[in-house]
Amino acid sequence: MIYNQVCYRTLGRDNPSSLQVYQQLGGYSVIKKILDEKRTAESIIEELKRSNLRGRGGAGFPTGLKWSFMPIHRSVEKYVLCNSDESEPGACKDRDILRFNPHQVIEGIIIAAYVTGAKVGYNYMRGEFEKEPYQRMEKALHEAYQAGFLGENILGSTFSFDLHNVLGAGSYVCGEETALMESLEGKKGLPRFKPPFPANFGLYGCPTNINNTETYASVPVILQQGSDWFSKLGKPNNGGTKIFSVSGHVNRPGNYELSLGVSFKDLLNLAGGVWKNRALKAVIPGGSSTPILPKDIILECTMDYDNLAKAGSLLGSGSVIVLDETTDMPALLERISLFYYRESCGQCSPCREGTGWLWRILNRINKGEGKLEDLAELDRVASNIAGRTICALGDAASMPVRSFLKHYRDEFEQKIRI
Ligand code: SF4
Repeated sequence: MIYNQVCYRTLGRDNPSSLQVYQQLGGYSVIKKILDEKRTAESIIEELKRSNLRGRGGAGFPTGLKWSFMPIHRSVEKYVLCNSDESEPGACKDRDILRFNPHQVIEGIIIAAYVTGAKVGYNYMRGEFEKEPYQRMEKALHEAYQAGFLGENILGSTFSFDLHNVLGAGSYVCGEETALMESLEGKKGLPRFKPPFPANFGLYGCPTNINNTETYASVPVILQQGSDWFSKLGKPNNGGTKIFSVSGHVNRPGNYELSLGVSFKDLLNLAGGVWKNRALKAVIPGGSSTPILPKDIILECTMDYDNLAKAGSLLGSGSVIVLDETTDMPALLERISLFYYRESCGQCSPCREGTGWLWRILNRINKGEGKLEDLAELDRVASNIAGRTICALGDAASMPVRSFLKHYRDEFEQKIRI
């Protein structure tokens, strides 16, 4: 089984976040080679397409294709952004990339800037990263500037690029790409209507490329080892490795970087199995917004974009929440619903009103004050949020409700009848 070979490859070494360790692994040799050979942007994009790298933030959009959407004119002002606003309940993979391999993220962003023609970039980190990840990124940026990998005329070439770290203020919705841009501009982090999309109208109204931390960290290794090598680590259409953040009722919660397409059973074994010798009940495979899968389904799944979609859920950010046989499903769903209710920015009525409505019904059911008609109401409200909002937070609030009711309706009925 492939293990920690891409984004976590510095782990196990002394001082893994240092420039010295990163360079011992060939770090920054990729951007140096690109500049020495004056490699074309088109050839890099083609290599990324061949690698089958898909966005690791949740949507799974092909990275090479996304980069190709940026306008090619070099004279236009453009930006590259790294989305390190990791806030989905269950997600903690980007935090550890920033802590233990910050230079690989920086090199990935520099390569994106070279390809897209951006002169300035920002790495937007969630406010709670104020201590360790932020400090390590700051140190790494300083080292990269000192070594000539950032700034004017990088490594003696005509290519110049500046990168800045920015801390958010702790809002979940700022992980939505256009809300992130509003926040960077110093405004309230409210998602924008799309289209126009960021590749045409992004930060300060300029063409902007935005990717997740894990996506950028994968790029230097792909170009160093080759797209075939990377692609073959995973499955067709699901290239490379993925970091799975396993949490919940397991013996060894943590981040596991494994081939895409690993079986759920193998992942669970690596995480030490279900804790306290209890039986598995269900799994939320991609962060709290993704549909829950009961034991019988998840035990037959491989962990990749296509297989989990076929099973009725999503890989999302790869945040795998394991639930044992004692889990109270209505109570868990109420907790999840409260999160999305609190994080709704309030711009669109279905989300602003609907998330609160869902939570209030669930709260009533869990207090023993529910009615059987509440279940149809939950379904109706959730269905009327999905697909009718500006950003995906509406869907994120709706999907858990519909999937919990689909698989565990009897538990809700039981609570109502007691
Ligand atoms: Fe705001 Fe919710 Fe609408 Fe997103 S879906 S823009 S969070 S109100």
